Formats: sequence, structure tokens, C-alpha cells
Amino acid sequence: MTTDLLREIDARRDDLIALTVDLIRIPTVNPPGDHYRQICDYVGDRLKARGYTTELIRAEGAPGDSDKHPRWNLVARREGKSPGDTVHFNSHHDVVEIGTGWTTDPFGGEIKNDRIYGRGACDMKGGLATSIIAAEVFADLRPDYAGAIEISATADEETGGYGGVAYLAERGYFSPERVQHVIIPEPLNKNRICLGHRGVWWAEIETFGRIAHGSMPFLGDSAIRHMAALLGEIEATLYPALATRTTAMPVVPPLARQSTLNINSIHGGQAEPEGGYTGFPAPVVAHSARIVLDRRYLIEEQPAAVRQEVVDLLEKLKLTRPGFTYDLRDLWTIPPTMTDKGAPIVRAVDKAITEVLGLTPDYVVSPGTYDQKHIDRIGRLHNCIAYGPGILDLAHQPDEYVGITDMLDSAKVMTLTLDNLLSAS
Ligand SMILES: [Zn+2]
Repeated sequence: MTTDLLREIDARRDDLIALTVDLIRIPTVNPPGDHYRQICDYVGDRLKARGYTTELIRAEGAPGDSDKHPRWNLVARREGKSPGDTVHFNSHHDVVEIGTGWTTDPFGGEIKNDRIYGRGACDMKGGLATSIIAAEVFADLRPDYAGAIEISATADEETGGYGGVAYLAERGYFSPERVQHVIIPEPLNKNRICLGHRGVWWAEIETFGRIAHGSMPFLGDSAIRHMAALLGEIEATLYPALATRTTAMPVVPPLARQSTLNINSIHGGQAEPEGGYTGFPAPVVAHSARIVLDRRYLIEEQPAAVRQEVVDLLEKLKLTRPGFTYDLRDLWTIPPTMTDKGAPIVRAVDKAITEVLGLTPDYVVSPGTYDQKHIDRIGRLHNCIAYGPGILDLAHQPDEYVGITDMLDSAKVMTLTLDNLLSAS
């Protein structure tokens, strides 16, 4: 029944490789957001020639959008022969900077053995190419399918997705009336279904002091010492408390199956001098110190409580430490999300993985967020997973690559998923 689909995926191996290489060769580095229009046009032209209607959408006014770096998104839709559900594949087209340590050309798309190398190879141009080939094979071999297939290539996932999926979700592109099933082909491995992610709370805390001469610190009040007291409290009480909180979410890696906290940055006292300044710093008591907290929380935790336990630490210091004053600024909050294992998209992909790979899939949850947050929260669409080829650990690393066999296997899973969900009755 499905062997023709599987065989046809194998037959398009060269097409899949060429497509992946072409996508890697468009250096869509973000920030700042280079070549977004070029990659949208490239994907759009290909899909238009295969019966899709395409829309180019610029996220005007979104963070980072400018005439120099417009935030372009592509949404393509191919209607079937009869009414039915819409299955949407959403890939982000941006990649992070290359960094250092490469032994291959980051934008060359070099092929060695069973791998294609390049920035974005696994995160996630390989996934984008895989979903395109899977959808093309399905439409070619099952031209009478019901419903519709959508493929999007969206901006800015690496910087929060506000010029990409969030912008589209706000305009109804992921509303349950328009789209019923979403797969995000992030590199989670071909045998894994990612149901969602932990929550995020970012906040900046500032402590205040009074400036004075550094030789007479007793005449001032050091904001750095106040911050040190806060960090001491965090070490002594908050970290141990977080370590005891575990979750039923199958987060990978397993060490992320607890609440975590990172202090993203710390700044105190005098600002760093401009580059080229060769003089000494001046002796002053710090009047301000700031940290940025990155708290990742569990589906079992309430966002208000996550915030309150930090406020409690600050208030305790205010009562016990003379001169302690602070400001807490919320920067970013995203609630945790986890799609139900019984959801139709989960069942369809589970069945396809079992058929293609001959094994039961692993269910996982991501430690960090990805664009599912916007689809779930703004789009109100909960039938969404991440599923795609590639090894997550390679994302953002030097010599990032995607396996060709992995892409073919994932393409088979995706095309069978379409067959499961859109078969003409
Ligand atoms: Zn990604």
C-alpha cells in the first residue's frame, strides 16, 4: 500500500541532496537577518512550479525588521481534490553565526560520506528540504488527496520568532480553522517525537548603591556587594530548591528534567571603556549592578510562583541587609507546552515511524523553546509537534552536518504521515 511512496523517496535522493545544499548556500545569518528574501524566493519558486500558491509576508515593524534587513516569510499551500484537514510543515530559514572551529566551508554544503556539512545543515535547512521532498512525493503519487498541504519558511526563530511564526500566528496563519496539524522539522532525530518544551522566565535584577571615592568606600554603598549578597542567597537556597523539582515531562537531556537557572550576564560599577582606551579605570564605588536571570520551568510549576520565589529572596535581603534596594524587570515569559500523546498528529507520526524504522518512537520534550510556543499560545493550535532529521547537539556547533540517510528516513515518515492524514476516502 505504501511501498510506492517509500521507493519514490529513495529515488529522489539526489534531488533532496541538491535542495539541501542550495539552501545551505544561502547564508541567512541571524542576527542581523541576511538574505531572507532570497531564500523565500528560492523555496517559493520551487513550490509554485509544483502547484502551490505562495505568499511572501514581511513582518513589518517586528523586532529587527528594517529596509536593510526585512523579515521575509514564505507560506505555500497546495489544495487537494476534496475537503479535508490541512497539514503544515513549518521550518525556520534563519541560521546562527558561524563562530570558529570549522574545518569545512560553513556555506559550502560539502558532502562527505553520508553527511552534508554547513551552518544550518541540521538546524534546520535539512529539515526544510526533507519536508519539501516528502510533500512533493506525496502529491505526485496521491494526486487525489483530500485537504491541503502547507509549507512555510519563516524568519527569526533563532532570535525568538517574533518576525516569523509569532507574526504569522497573530494574523491567523496558525488558527485551528485554517490548519489542523503542524510538524516543525527541527533536528530532534528521526526516531523521536518532540511534544513541546519547558517554560522560560527571563528577568533583569538591578541592585543600587551610592557612588563615592574607591579609597573611602565607607562613604558610599556598593551595589556590587548587594548583588553579591543576592548571588549568595541564590546559591544557598534557590539552586538547591530547584534541584529537587522534577517533572513528568520527558525532557532531553535527562538533566533538564528539573527546574534550572542560568545567570546570563552580570554587570556592575563602571562601564567597560571604549576599545582603544589604554588608561586606568577610576576608583569609584559601584552605584549599580545588574544580572539577567534565565529560569527554565516545568509544566508542574506556576509562572507566578516561579517569579515570586525570586521576589521573596529580594524582599528577605531588603529586610535583613541595610541599604539593600532593587529593581526587578520582567524581560520574557513563555509558558511550558506539551502536546497530548493522543493528538492526531502524534498518532500519525508514531505510526509512520513504526512503519519506516521498525521501532517505537521515543517521546521527548525540549529543554529550550522553539516556534511551537507561538503556534500553541498565539495560534491556539495544540496539535503540533517537532519532528525532523539531524542531531540536536550539532545545532549551532562548528562542522554542523545532517545525515543523508537520516533525511531520507525522515522524508519517508513525513510522506506516510501525509498519507495517514490526507488520504482520499
Ligand atoms: Zn532550529
